[in-house]
Amino acid sequence: MTESAAASATPPRCHALVPCAGVGERAGAGGPKQYRVVAGRSVVAHTLAALAAVPRIASTLVVLAPDDAEFERHAPGAHRVARVGGATRAASVAAGLAALTADGARDDDWVLVHDAARCLVRPADIERLIAACEHDATGGLLALPVADTLKHEADGRAAATVDRRALWQAQTPQMFRLGLLRAALAAAGDAVTDEASAVEALGHAPKLVPGALENFKLTWPADFALAERLLRTRA
Ligand code: C5P
Repeated sequence: MTESAAASATPPRCHALVPCAGVGERAGAGGPKQYRVVAGRSVVAHTLAALAAVPRIASTLVVLAPDDAEFERHAPGAHRVARVGGATRAASVAAGLAALTADGARDDDWVLVHDAARCLVRPADIERLIAACEHDATGGLLALPVADTLKHEADGRAAATVDRRALWQAQTPQMFRLGLLRAALAAAGDAVTDEASAVEALGHAPKLVPGALENFKLTWPADFALAERLLRTRA
């Protein structure tokens, strides 16, 4: 059998890619938000434990800033890391995809990009995302229909109300084929704030898979106390 015939005979694998190279400016003082401690361990340690509990994920790669000297202290255990993070989340993800490819991942493998700062994701929700997307032509993401009424702001006042009926909040993981995602991010550049928007710009329509409200991204100072309460009251 030729090498390419052997490759196509092997089913595509699922890899998790965790961008963990942000500085977390909006989270206030206390260092990068992925290293803040909630409910007894760092945010990223909770995140990696959730990914490790999903049997379908064959490997997890954490993307760190080139000068990161803290990760190992905050995430005990054996983790694959690449110190290739960039100035934006999109740059960090693109560099992580290159590292996955260098490690032998194939263009038809699935990549689940998951924010280090979403430490409340449930393994069961990741499994539902995989089941919903693995036979899809494009892939998709966990997301939530918007519940609140949305306002456009100008000078601290509500200037207009936005029709929320077709609006969803994008979460992570976001699951796409490695080759498609690499091409999408290369075309989209650094400004995109998630993978789906880069894939949409190529003319594809990622699947919206309903997620859970508690899979929020720790962003603002008050989010850490909320995450602490939720994690401590989990069964
Ligand atoms: O800053 P934001 O909340 O969008 O970050 C989302 C995720 O992307 C975080 O896990 C953060 O560490 C990561 N990130 C990154 N490289 C950057 C900026 C953010 O890996 N330059």
